[in-house]
Amino acid sequence: MGISFDKIDGVIWYDGKLVPWADANVHLLTHGLHYASCVFEGERAYGGKVFKSTEHSTRLKNSALILDFEIPYSVAEIVAAKQIVIDSNNLPNAYLRPIAWRGSEMMGVSAPSNTIHLAIAAWDWPSYFDPAEKFRGIRMGLAEYRRPDPATIPAMAKASGLYMICTISKHRAERAGYADAMMLDWQGRVAECTGANIFFIADGKIHTPIADCFLAGITRATVIDLAGRRGIEVIERRIMPDELSGFTECFMSGTAAEITPVAEIADWKFTPGQISAQLMADFAAEVQPKDKAVAA
Ligand code: PMP
Repeated sequence: MGISFDKIDGVIWYDGKLVPWADANVHLLTHGLHYASCVFEGERAYGGKVFKSTEHSTRLKNSALILDFEIPYSVAEIVAAKQIVIDSNNLPNAYLRPIAWRGSEMMGVSAPSNTIHLAIAAWDWPSYFDPAEKFRGIRMGLAEYRRPDPATIPAMAKASGLYMICTISKHRAERAGYADAMMLDWQGRVAECTGANIFFIADGKIHTPIADCFLAGITRATVIDLAGRRGIEVIERRIMPDELSGFTECFMSGTAAEITPVAEIADWKFTPGQISAQLMADFAAEVQPKDKAVAA
């Protein structure tokens, strides 16, 4: 296990100021902790620039609005703050975690006037999964929990409360020897992984579930765009688990996972192949800052 996340050396942007890492704390009686009034982002910087920075901060602001609070900074201000964080910590290649939450003024379900806080931390985080395993394709189990009906919870927000079933599912998968778990949706259709979206390939075409009850990933949108530029058809549709035996390749997409091939989901087997390799290469090129890519 690496260093504990409260003991990293560096500075965190906290309500508009850079503070030493160890001082970036919240009080125990914080609404965000008790009632999950908390939204966050996961982003990556490559070559000193945050990939799709505006898209991530727009999603953060929207996630907060869905949870009935407004982050007191504009998208442009949040984008600028993220740049300050990676520059001040000298982290050109980093994972960033902006997080916004309701504070401590009221402790109860209703807390309409609680102050809204925003903090941004960044740290070194090379690859989500072991690199050797990444090219072989990871093994995934099947989660018992399902992505909830959007009529029961604000499913499209990147909100802390939605991750409770992800952590439980990932722990169970890891205990069974898997790297992750695939989740079905509330209707039993294929949905996504515990922290990434999912794609399948058959006959040179890509298939992915419609993102109507789970996070529509920014990496997912990038994959769809990159495939389109290669002339590869992407079909967004309802996918039932019993169809999985008809797919030859499978990969997951997400800011942390980037594009990670999948070799197994429970009893279904896939062989990482040409299209996955092509998209991984295209994604690696796409995330590099454009001015550098042109100069290279
Ligand atoms: N689904 C879940 C549950 C996630 O946590 C993530 C990671 N943020 C994704 C999908 C992928 O989203 P993105 O590509 O925007 O990182």
